[in-house]
Amino acid sequence: MSSEIFDLPRPAIARERAEKLADEVFGVVGEAKELGSQQDRNFLVTASAGGSRFLLKVSNPVFTVEELDAQNRAMELLARSGLTVPAPTAASDGSTIATVDIDGRPHHVRLLSFVDGTPMIDFEHLAAGPVADLGRLAGAVSVALAAFVHPGLERELQWDLRRGEEVVASLLHHVPDEGRRELLADALETVSASLAPLTGLLPIQALHADLTDDNVVCTTDPAGRPAVAGIIDFGDTSYGWRVAELAVACTAVLHHDPVRPLAALPLIEAFDAVAPLTDAEIDALWPLIVLRGATLVVSGEHQVAIDPGNDYADTAREREWIIFETAARFDAATATDAIRRRLGRERPRPHFEPDHLLLPSLASAPLALVDLGYSSRTLRDGSWLEDPLGEEERILRETATGSGCAATRFGEARLTRAPARSATEPVNVALAVDVRLGARATDAIAPFAGELRELDDSLALVGEGWTLVIAGLASPRLGPVGAGETIGRAENALTLWLVATSAEAPLGSVPPRFVPGSEFFAWSGRFDDPGTVLGLRTRPDVPDSAGVLARRERSYDPLQGHYYVAPPQIERGWREHLIDTDGRHYLDMVNNVSVLGHGHPRIAAAAADQWRMLNTNSRFHYDAVARLSERLLATVPGSFDTVLLVNSGTEAVDLALRLTKAFSGRDDVLCVGESYHGWSLGADAVSTSVSDNPRAAETRPSWVHVTDTLNAYRGRHRGPDAGAAYAADTIAQIERLAAEGRPVGTFIAEPRNGNAGAIEVPQGYLAAVYDAIRAGGGVCIADEVQVGYGRQGDVFWGYQQHPGVVPDVITMAKAMGNGHPLGAVITRREIANALSSQGTFFSSAGGSTLSSRIGVTVLEIMADEGLQANALDVGTYLQLGIEQLGERHPMIGAVHGRGLYLGVELVRDRATLEPACEETAAICDRLRELGVIVQPTGDRQNVLKVKPPLCFTTESADFFIACLDDVLTRGW
Ligand code: PMP
Repeated sequence: MSSEIFDLPRPAIARERAEKLADEVFGVVGEAKELGSQQDRNFLVTASAGGSRFLLKVSNPVFTVEELDAQNRAMELLARSGLTVPAPTAASDGSTIATVDIDGRPHHVRLLSFVDGTPMIDFEHLAAGPVADLGRLAGAVSVALAAFVHPGLERELQWDLRRGEEVVASLLHHVPDEGRRELLADALETVSASLAPLTGLLPIQALHADLTDDNVVCTTDPAGRPAVAGIIDFGDTSYGWRVAELAVACTAVLHHDPVRPLAALPLIEAFDAVAPLTDAEIDALWPLIVLRGATLVVSGEHQVAIDPGNDYADTAREREWIIFETAARFDAATATDAIRRRLGRERPRPHFEPDHLLLPSLASAPLALVDLGYSSRTLRDGSWLEDPLGEEERILRETATGSGCAATRFGEARLTRAPARSATEPVNVALAVDVRLGARATDAIAPFAGELRELDDSLALVGEGWTLVIAGLASPRLGPVGAGETIGRAENALTLWLVATSAEAPLGSVPPRFVPGSEFFAWSGRFDDPGTVLGLRTRPDVPDSAGVLARRERSYDPLQGHYYVAPPQIERGWREHLIDTDGRHYLDMVNNVSVLGHGHPRIAAAAADQWRMLNTNSRFHYDAVARLSERLLATVPGSFDTVLLVNSGTEAVDLALRLTKAFSGRDDVLCVGESYHGWSLGADAVSTSVSDNPRAAETRPSWVHVTDTLNAYRGRHRGPDAGAAYAADTIAQIERLAAEGRPVGTFIAEPRNGNAGAIEVPQGYLAAVYDAIRAGGGVCIADEVQVGYGRQGDVFWGYQQHPGVVPDVITMAKAMGNGHPLGAVITRREIANALSSQGTFFSSAGGSTLSSRIGVTVLEIMADEGLQANALDVGTYLQLGIEQLGERHPMIGAVHGRGLYLGVELVRDRATLEPACEETAAICDRLRELGVIVQPTGDRQNVLKVKPPLCFTTESADFFIACLDDVLTRGW
């Protein structure tokens, strides 16, 4: 192989000379700035007149005019098919390629239009959408160049994967690290073996050949995600294997998310949709990705060796290693299975049936399967987080002792292998089955004929089409064995894998015991349930989440929407963690209802106990209703003496409105802008938030009057005097209404606007407005459904944050029952009595024995566990942490709220406060991928609502802050 294709230092030409060339050859006067390149010398030239931007490209002298002409033609072809690419500028003599002398050697120079945008590589995180866009783009390029022929495409390039094996072999010695060299050599061997039968079958055509994240430029979509805009750098344009275009693009994705090698699947799928792949191309793809990675590594090392000042090549080195390693370490046969499945082209797998059972002596004893997944009742009260492996062993042993033998389940997503607060998907889905024997050791029998070999620290029975891997087998009899012959002793514990193998796809090492849930579909192409050699199917029924969602959509009114387009199926919870059917733990930042946290054993025990004792309604005489009412009154000043119990916040608000209307004798109600109070006719009438009810204004009854939105951050009045200014406006409104003969009987407001994003009601406002309302003969309702009950830390009720303010009526729900339907109206007897003029009040389940018992228990647990104090401590810590993030991320405009009731407001510009609406939705989606459930709120949907269970810990606060930091730093 000629050394010319390797030794390509960049032409030596300085900035001043570049400016001169642009002027003298192409007639563009401007300023030049050098840009990176591995082998050419590139300058960005900005024209002094008009500011147009160009790329002055001085090609390495080894490249011929013919090659450069082929590149120019390829650009024209792609432009004609609608893609954005550089356009060559004609020199004064009309040609698009000029030749100049540099250091006594002719060099070819072109001036190309500059394609604006940010290289995709600058977006650290690539969501599946942009990854697929890259695949579509590569497919479109492939289709557009399919019929392109040109003598300048016949090139001898180190990037041509047809010669990739040769390139890697000859440059390998430049890799200084011995371990890396070995890994490269091993990978090369595997790749060569895989490609050998395929190379003759791979179609050849013209390629861009370097469609990487360096050479694809992007703009951003409205949500701030990269949007593919154009292609640059046609320096490697040549003939090659058509599938190489795709392999190259795939490698570009691997360093963005190195822990997820299959992140390239959306790219492959999108390419295939535009430019369908042949069978041989599919089989060659993963080996070619590995080969491209290896080529990048060796070539990068070599380039640094021959051109030590080339920073571009130098900084790329670590990234290139990650690309190679990510691809090479992933099982190639599994990767190909994954690609085939994703494209709907999987090959049928042979069916496995054992000739004999592995442990026949156990056939008569019941072999018990243990449940270590989300549905396990044996794993309780978060035990899987405290001592996960100890719990697994305990459950297996206890089951084995009771039943003689116990086994885990193939394909089960184990809770015990899924940590809380993990930004990456757990590696928790079992490829192997663990077996525990009770007291008896027993002979192990070959389930099929084969050869028993050592494989790492385990044994492999390699048969025709299948290999059974066994860890833990004593006294093995190595060598050929017939079906039914003894292969060793099972004494205590075994781990089994069952893998489809062949001469082309043998098993080189012991497979992983666990893989991530998102990869299981790929692994299950080769791996089958090893339980079959024990005579049973162990694979659990994996929930069909998409199917359940479809059933929900059909039978449950979609008006009752759900979070996320493709939501995780959440079936379990523990403290501030929500857990899906894959065992993934999400930090729950939104469940203010579950004050105590999920799965609280004490509340569960109280509920179960009460169900056994009695559950009836409050027309009967029992202790719990008196206890709950007394406990509630103990939290408020002496002016309150009466409690009414209902089932929800809506009911509490509706009832409160009936009380105050009856008491004041007036129909007119004043409520606050951008607020929410419930869904019933009455509660909805006073709800003004357009995000909850876009038609709120049009459907508002005439008895409802609305104040301005109270927001000292972005509202009409801002800063420290906002409270007085808003109060003056509202008082004027109250007076106007009175003058119009519609005096206000009720004023309803939250003491902090929860729905708008934990926005503070400006200080001084409530005191002044309450006075004005009362002076006019009205009464005041504080809706504490969202912000009360200790969540804000410094106070139990939200109104207590406003000195001198005491409402006439308090509405409460949500936290009161920790999710059990329970609400309350707390008021004075005289106000409650007014309702008697309109009949009796009874709500069948409100204040039931069970609800009251739960209400009391919630208050007891809150006190025993110091949850209000925790809200203050951890909430302050969390708020401070997010505010500190704001010092680095200008998008964080404000952190509203107090304690564990916060709102993180995201803005595009801190001066204009332009809300970052689309970004907020996209950020929530990305946070979910990182293991955090958080949602937007407010009329602009640009505030993250942060209101986790009150048992929230500083570790969880740290995790949330780290994830938010990650998203704002790396993108979403
Ligand atoms: N008031 C406020 C302030 C609320 O936030 C809500 C619910 N988000 C309600 C009342 C209604 O409560 P529920 O959903 O229990 O009916």
